Amino acid sequence: MVPRSLLNLNTFRVDHSCRSISYTNSSNDLVDLAKTINKPIIVGGGSNILFVDDVDRDVIVINHEGIEVIKTTNKYVYIRVQAGTNWHQLVLWAIENDLGGIENLSLIPGKCGAAPMQNIGAYGVELKNVFVELECVKIGTGERWVLHKEDCLFGYRESIFKGELKDKVIIDNITLRLTTNSNHTLNRDYGIINDKLDDLKVKKPTIKDISDVIIDIRKSKLPDPKEYPNAGSFFKNPIISTVKLKSLKSTYKYIPSYVIDNDSVKVPAGWLIDKAGWKGKQINGVGTYKHQALVIVNHSARSGKEILEFSKLIQDDVLEKYGIKIEREVNVY
Ligand code: FAD
Ligand code: NAP
Repeated sequence: MVPRSLLNLNTFRVDHSCRSISYTNSSNDLVDLAKTINKPIIVGGGSNILFVDDVDRDVIVINHEGIEVIKTTNKYVYIRVQAGTNWHQLVLWAIENDLGGIENLSLIPGKCGAAPMQNIGAYGVELKNVFVELECVKIGTGERWVLHKEDCLFGYRESIFKGELKDKVIIDNITLRLTTNSNHTLNRDYGIINDKLDDLKVKKPTIKDISDVIIDIRKSKLPDPKEYPNAGSFFKNPIISTVKLKSLKSTYKYIPSYVIDNDSVKVPAGWLIDKAGWKGKQINGVGTYKHQALVIVNHSARSGKEILEFSKLIQDDVLEKYGIKIEREVNVY
């Protein structure tokens, strides 16, 4: 078998190889591939993956697309979306149809089948807020399986698919519940959204206004992977105890934090990394993005190993400086 290049299947643009690449054009293809390919690596848009070396495994790229309305009520519209559908195209479809719920998740790269993996989230909204169920296929048998929201164990950038079901199932389609415009409450809690709307003098924003504002913010802050190869936030924001926060405040008076519950807070990993002196730093062609230290950019590294090594230097330094262990968000193969 001739090894195949993964260059166009990961937004870090590392050129490692795999044994073979197959594509799904339909749900039936997915079942056939799940039955016949042993231990495949599943790839959607490759925007949350780091290949550290050549992999001696077969890759299945999820390409089958489609959005179908399956039920409507006065208040809600239920849609089934095939795993290969581009996530942002789905957001645009919802806006065109005047349906609310995912406008805060505008411009997240990747495909819908990967969205449950880490319960994608941004600007105060997570996939789980609109998620109903998904259908997946078991690797090895091709058996179909429906998992409801509570089965997916969604957490902060977490789900059962990153834990117990890792490499065991392939997500075929997801069902979401969107809200009709007149029943929808916009989520503007994330400070910068309101600031932007005020700047634009938008008094009564629509679903589309929220999406437009978020698209604008994201375009101005985040590196386009085509120009700066990256996989978004490399690490998750750590959740620490309020006691720990208090002790950190004696050294870092201005450390930002967001309340999770009475005993814990979320601290932006980007702030910790930035204050530790890593913003814009580069080693062996790998660096943090100049405007957001949480994003690691592959400037010229030829191997994913160099990216992983760079990320470990940051993890070690953050642990040493703050006593906080930051976990990777990106999926490493
Ligand atoms: P891939 O990278 O292809 O896969 C990710 C993981 O999911 C892999 O482990 C893969 O094996 C698995 N997988 C993919 N599809 C399936 C399937 N059908 N069945 C089973 N397993 C599957 N994420 C956020 O949450 N919020 C953000 O705001 C955000 N912003 C980003 C901005 C940038 C510039 C970039 C580059 C990334 C950002 N991300 C963000 C991360 C990423 O876009 C999301 O995690 C996205 O859902 C990944 O989709 P994908 O199709 O590219 O997944
Ligand atoms: P930001 O607005 O500069 O904020 C920095 C961090 O503080 C964020 O990570 C966010 O946590 C937290 N935060 C800010 N305001 C908050 C609030 N009102 N309530 C709770 N938490 C708050 O972040 P950014 O880098 O420009 O990203 C903006 C949004 O897009 C964030 O939600 C971020 O998660 C998302 N994003 C995600 C990725 C990814 O790859 N996962 C990449 C780019 C952007 P949260 O991350 O928990 O929201």
